[in-house]
Parts: sequence; C-alpha cells; structure tokens
Amino acid sequence: MARKSGQVTIVGAGLCGSLLAIMLKKQGIGVSVLERRGDPRTSAPVAGRSINLALSARGIRALRHAGIFAKVEERLIPMRGRIIHDERGATELQRYGQREHEQIYSVSRAELNRILIDSAEHDQGIAIEFGQEVRGFDAAGALSVSNGVDRTLRSEPVIAADGAGSSIRRALEDTVGIGATEALLPHGYKELCIPPRTAGRHQLDPGGLHIWPRGGFMLIALPNPGGDFTLTLFLPNEGKDSFASLGTASDIDVFFRRYFPDVVPLIPNLAEAFVANPVGILGTVRCRTWHDGGKALLVGDAAHAIVPFHGQGMNLAFEDCVLLDRIVRDGRSWEESFGAFEEQQLPNANAIADMALENYVEMRDTVRDPKYKLRKELSFQLERRLPGRFIPRYSMVMFHEEIPFSIAQYRGALQQALLDELVRDAHAVEEIDLDAAEALARERLPPLNT
Ligand SMILES: Cc1cc2nc3c(=O)[nH]c(=O)nc-3n(C[C@H](O)[C@H](O)[C@H](O)COP(=O)(O)OP(=O)(O)OC[C@H]3O[C@@H](n4cnc5c(N)ncnc54)[C@H](O)[C@@H]3O)c2cc1C
Repeated sequence: MARKSGQVTIVGAGLCGSLLAIMLKKQGIGVSVLERRGDPRTSAPVAGRSINLALSARGIRALRHAGIFAKVEERLIPMRGRIIHDERGATELQRYGQREHEQIYSVSRAELNRILIDSAEHDQGIAIEFGQEVRGFDAAGALSVSNGVDRTLRSEPVIAADGAGSSIRRALEDTVGIGATEALLPHGYKELCIPPRTAGRHQLDPGGLHIWPRGGFMLIALPNPGGDFTLTLFLPNEGKDSFASLGTASDIDVFFRRYFPDVVPLIPNLAEAFVANPVGILGTVRCRTWHDGGKALLVGDAAHAIVPFHGQGMNLAFEDCVLLDRIVRDGRSWEESFGAFEEQQLPNANAIADMALENYVEMRDTVRDPKYKLRKELSFQLERRLPGRFIPRYSMVMFHEEIPFSIAQYRGALQQALLDELVRDAHAVEEIDLDAAEALARERLPPLNT
C-alpha cells in the first residue's frame, strides 16, 4: 500500500526530533516541527539537562548519514578510556578498546542541538515553531497545542520526539493503551563544574572520562572545549550518603572531603554550587508498542528513555532516525513503516535499557575489582585472537554500530559466562591457557552474522 501523506508533524526539536526532521525532509517529505521551548540559538539553555554527552559510533553514523558530522566533528573531545580515581587520589587509565579509533567523544548538548536546529531550518528550510507546547493528542489524531493560546492541529502522522516525559506517549497510553511503564531509579544526579585551570586549560587530563567509583555511588567528569569539566554526582535519593542526607554546607563539605578529597581543591564554592543546582531524576521507559496505526509514532526518549550509564540514550535516539529514514524510503504506508520500525528497534531498545542499568554497577563498583581488570585483559586477548567473533560487550555497544544492541546483549552474556569460568582460579592473564580459552570461545560463540 502506498504512503497516504507526504507531510509529517514532529513534536520536539531536541536531539532526536531535529535530526529526524533533517533526514525526512532530505527524502522529500514535508516536515513541520513543534517545540515547547524557545529557540536555543537565542534563548538561555534550559537548566536541569546534562550539559555534555558522550557521542559514540551509532550517533556518529547517524550524523554522517544526515550529512552534518563535519559541523559537529570540530567540537568533539576524544576520550580514550576511563580514568579511575581511588579514595587516596591515585589514578589509573582503563582503555575503552584496543584499537586507535576505539574512543568516545564529549560533546556539548546545547551546541549539538543548535547545529541540528540550524541545519534543519537553514539548510533544509524546515519550519520549526518554538514556544509551542503539545498538551494532548486525541484518538482521532488531533493535537492540542498551546503557546499561551490553545489551538487544535490535525496532522497525520505525528512523530513524537518529545523526550522522556512525552505528552504524546501519555496520551496514547490513555486512549489506545500502549503498555507504557516509567521505572524511576532510586538514585538521582547533580551537575557541578570544574572550572579551567587558566583560560582553555583543563585541571584534569581531558583525554578520558574521569570516574570516582565509591561502591553505592559515583562521581564522573567529562571535558568541555573551554577547559572546564562537567562533574556529575550519581547518588541514592534517600538514606545514608544520599541527596537527602546532604542538607547543609557542612554535610556537603564532610561528604566530599571523605569520598572525593582530590576534587575539593578543584571547585571553588563547592557547597554553594551544590545547593544551587537541582537534583535530576533518572529512569527507564518501556512500551509494548510505539505506534497507533499510522497516526502516531514515538521515537527517541519518548519511546525508550534509559539511564545514562552506557552513554547511549542519544546514540540510540539517533539510531532510530537512521532506521526510520531507511524504512520510510521504501514508500510503504505510514502504518506499515511504523510497524517495521518497531519490530526491528524495540528489542534493541529493551536490550540497551538493561545494559545501561547493569553498567551503573560496573562504573560505580566493579571497575575497582581486580577480577574485572583480569576479565577485561583476557577479553582483549581473545578479541585479538578471534577478531570479528569475540568482541568485548562494551566495544560491541560503543564501537560496532553494525551490531544490534540485542545481539550485543545476547553475545555479551555468552562471553561473560566464558570469562567468569576462565578467570575463576587465575590472578593474572599469564596463568590462563590462551589456546584452550580460544578453542572454548570458538566452540561457544557462533560467528557474527550481522
Ligand atoms: C544526566 C544525563 C546524561 C546523559 N548522558 C548521555 C550520554 O553521555 N550519551 C548519550 O547518548 N545519551 C545521554 N543521555 C541521554 C540523552 O540526553 C537522551 O537520550 C536524548 O536527549 C534523547 O533525545 P530526545 O530528542 O529523544 O529527547 P530530548 O533531548 O529530551 O528532547 C525532547 C524535546 O522535546 C521538547 N518537548 C518536550 N515536551 C514537549 C511538548 N509537550 N511539546 C513540544 N515540545 C516538547 C523538549 O523541549 C525537547 O526539546 C543522558 C541523559 C541524562 C539525563
């Protein structure tokens, strides 16, 4: 069946909505975009969102696909691994991968969003209406929109890229029932800033993602181009050592001196900044279905918000754009296109949602375990011996955009069981019979077929 309409309305001009608008317009579809906020190119950034993000292979592939990677590339800061800070202030670099290109990139959310919006408006001529809040979507496919004055808009289809708190997702849940769940993590986050040493010069090594793992919680820092770092504390909301327990300047001071003594001298007015900045919420959104026939489709965080511990929410949202762009190009009806998109991507979204939750424990705790380091070293050895067959799970997720997340999760579980078995009685990689390990990996891991 041929597509009925060559016009779509995208709700949300965040990272996903603006990139998708560019891709669809490039294939000749009429696109209009409604965005609740003011134009980020002329208004102050909205507080309460992460200031910078880690961009990796899936996101880069999508930006290349849309023809705008060159504009973003010059603003990226490469991070080659995790720089772990222990309680005594000692640091250790744990490389992400073993090939030169296996690194991730810190990028400013606001800058990236501005580039995408600019490219959508100026290069593609897309009309983005700012200051337009979508408040409802009814069973007949009508949008209720307000910019202070309420109006009703009819557009088929509507693509909802309105983020984790999506109003369209909630409307679809109420009208047709899409099996949406929103599971909040009992931990939140707070962002702080480590200012530059001098203009443009970082106080810490800018070539890695810094982590202060402390078991039940952690601090991380990503570099920014101006010489500053964005520091994020991930902490339980309640209980001992929680946001609730840090009520006074003295509580904050004692907490940081106890757990992060090397950070204290890097931030002037630490307690003041801590009190002034909000605590953000974290959670996972899952749905049974992402579309209502050909009327509406959820994409990006609106469909599948995940916790940020694998740095994949935006990358996954960008992967959605590439996949949907390819499917829509086939010229099938919107309903068929949305169904095909969901069929392929829903298992991947669920897989990375699980892996992101697991990665919180790895980042805040497991990275300190000598067995973890041994497993990592062994997995690099096996990858060298069996390239394209044994690939560490972290690398499959971050550097192998051709491997779907669901396959990375499945193969990652097989590999984890194998590694656990091989390191059980070993303390160093020299104690492991690598030929036998390779044979076992060959036996248990089917060749990759992506
Ligand atoms: C602390 C933190 C750190 C993160 N780090 C990373 C990382 O390192 N790497 C990574 O890949 N991902 C990361 N993420 C995830 C990433 O931020 C999201 O996955 C990404 O922003 C999703 O893009 P989106 O366009 O779907 O949603 P959003 O970026 O939330 O955009 C939604 C847009 O819709 C607009 N909107 C909302 N409601 C309405 C409405 N009713 N009407 C009209 N417009 C509306 C909003 O104003 C916004 O512009 C992180 C998230 C957090 C919270």
